[in-house]
Amino acid sequence: MSGADPLRLPRDVGLCARCRHAHVIVNRKGSKFYNCRRSRTDRRFPKYPPLPVLECEGWEAPATEEETS
Ligand code: SF4
Repeated sequence: MSGADPLRLPRDVGLCARCRHAHVIVNRKGSKFYNCRRSRTDRRFPKYPPLPVLECEGWEAPATEEETS
């Protein structure tokens, strides 16, 4: 993990809040869950990592607009 400024991450979520592999799921009650999409191909990563995630080998910066267009 490098490149994520820990001072700008939500303390209750940590790195998953700014990771391209995180998929946020909101249930009917408004609770948010962070699904790690790396878990689909790599068993080292839990499907729903316990939060906050403070260190993670799989973290990558969110995709830029250029990458997604
Ligand atoms: S790779 Fe790490 S930081 Fe990214 S979503 Fe998965 S657990 Fe969170």
